[in-house]
Amino acid sequence: METLRLDPGDYTGSYKLIGGRLSLDLVNTISWPNTDRRHDWLTTPANLSMWLEAVGLPLTEADQSDLTDVSEIRNAVTEMLRPLAHHSRPTPAACESFNRLLTSAQARRRIDPINLTWIWKPPRRASDLLDPVLVDAADLVTADNHERLKHCPSCDWLFEDHTRNGRRRWCDMADCGSRAKARSYYHRNKT
Ligand SMILES: [Zn+2]
Repeated sequence: METLRLDPGDYTGSYKLIGGRLSLDLVNTISWPNTDRRHDWLTTPANLSMWLEAVGLPLTEADQSDLTDVSEIRNAVTEMLRPLAHHSRPTPAACESFNRLLTSAQARRRIDPINLTWIWKPPRRASDLLDPVLVDAADLVTADNHERLKHCPSCDWLFEDHTRNGRRRWCDMADCGSRAKARSYYHRNKT
């Protein structure tokens, strides 16, 4: 799994692009959500720029106000996708906030007359760059089923299971997966 060298500050973990989808990798820029270990990776313009570049949405320069906008979009996307990854449903209020952002994202999308592909108006700020993330999240939400949308039972990062047998369980076998394996080995061999 690809580790992205975002500046961790005082935090001891690392950030990895493990989601398999743009929108899931954005959600995962908060590590260990809802726990004491919670860590937000997008609290500096430098980290935001590095993340955007890594996912193919480069911006010349991010600033402090971009962080606030991106955080708002991330919250809206998270409120939609995390419940689905937990076999639950987003609330109507979450859908409403998400729809508001999605509507303005879609207003910036056009069909290129030459290539007949989607193109986006040139971004004015970091939040505009996240338009494809909102559309990606919308595609996930409206998919026929959410069987492959999963959460890591240890750290709660989200991912789409692209394995053939659909049995991926962990964010990363080298991380949460190996910790769990070590734990079960210990319990099995304890007398
Ligand atoms: Zn994990």
